[in-house]
Amino acid sequence: MSKFDLSEELLHECTCPACGHHVAVPFMDRQQQPLATLGWPGSEKEAQEMDELPLAFVRCVNCGHVYNREFTYENVPYSEKPNLMFNRGNIWSRHLERVCELMLDYLPSEPLVAEIGCGEGHLLRAMAERRPGGRYIGFDPNASMNTGGLFEARTELFMPARHVTELSPNLVISRHVLEHLVNPLGFLQSMAFAASWAGVETKVYIEVPCIDHAIKTGRTVDFYYEHNSHFTTESFTRMLTRTSKSVEMLLHSYNREVISGLVRLGDSPSMVTYAKEATRFRIGSREAKETVGRQLDELAATGQRVAIWGGTGKAAAFINNYAVDAKRFPLVVDSDPDKVGTHVPGQGQMIRSRDLLRDAPAEVLIIPMQWRTRDILNEMEREQIQCPLVLIEHEGRLINFEQDEHPY
Ligand SMILES: [Zn+2]
Repeated sequence: MSKFDLSEELLHECTCPACGHHVAVPFMDRQQQPLATLGWPGSEKEAQEMDELPLAFVRCVNCGHVYNREFTYENVPYSEKPNLMFNRGNIWSRHLERVCELMLDYLPSEPLVAEIGCGEGHLLRAMAERRPGGRYIGFDPNASMNTGGLFEARTELFMPARHVTELSPNLVISRHVLEHLVNPLGFLQSMAFAASWAGVETKVYIEVPCIDHAIKTGRTVDFYYEHNSHFTTESFTRMLTRTSKSVEMLLHSYNREVISGLVRLGDSPSMVTYAKEATRFRIGSREAKETVGRQLDELAATGQRVAIWGGTGKAAAFINNYAVDAKRFPLVVDSDPDKVGTHVPGQGQMIRSRDLLRDAPAEVLIIPMQWRTRDILNEMEREQIQCPLVLIEHEGRLINFEQDEHPY
């Protein structure tokens, strides 16, 4: 077999953190190594006995992203040993200054800026000094922040649903955070959704390491456990375009070892439409539970003989959703002889043959499968089964199939 033959070993079905594609191929041979930067062993023995963790780096065939498909966040002790970013090197300081200037160009005179994983707060202080009229907020659950009286420190995680709505930020900055997340695309898309939902126009500046060079030059030292997710120029760009329609800036820096981008969020009305539709459906189903529940209570109280046609699938969903219990509604029938003698999942009524209704007719028949009701009524006529009242569920209530309006 040549090294380029396609085999099960080569094709992995796993989800790309950057673009969401589901096929990847091995990028390095799988191996086990201990934590490389967050382990901090105190002795030779301790170092040698460290747990070995799987390095199973694969590459997305859609966007070129490289990631450890066996990475588990729980194995990385971020909370105990914060990953201090080195911000004092000369070139790095110049880079930060440049980022600062660049961001200010995109901001109004009194901006609200939030930084996710702000570390000790160097960048926020620099921005606040240059544009003092704004409000600056640093989020970092682990860092000890030096606000210098220039920004607000929040020792918590930035939660898109809560904080985008609460703060309506003009800009959210995230530097060297997304490469540590298991699902960076999901995080950005959550931000985009939250901004659209809240009707807030927010810009997000993201900065991550870029591995274009590492790939080109065969550099393997970048790939250790804590670094689970590696962006290329292409995978970073894909992540941004899957998050926002408007990518306003894309920039390499630090000798092309770092890539950053700025996107505008908050302009996706269709996401809001779907979400509102889902919410309406959820509220409707909750109200239906009450209404139908009340109707069933009333029906049970009349003491009439009630039958339910169908005891599996959609009928079982109806019976369980509306708590059609076996005590009040023991009679469940079905036309399928294979189902007769089995029981309704959950509530437990024994499913009987519909022939039972010929000799001992029901006074009320509930048919949970609305669109099959016509067929069932035809079948009943053929089998000489009669019932004076047939109910179906429609728009959140039980209605009279013969008299009320419905599309079935
Ligand atoms: Zn991808």
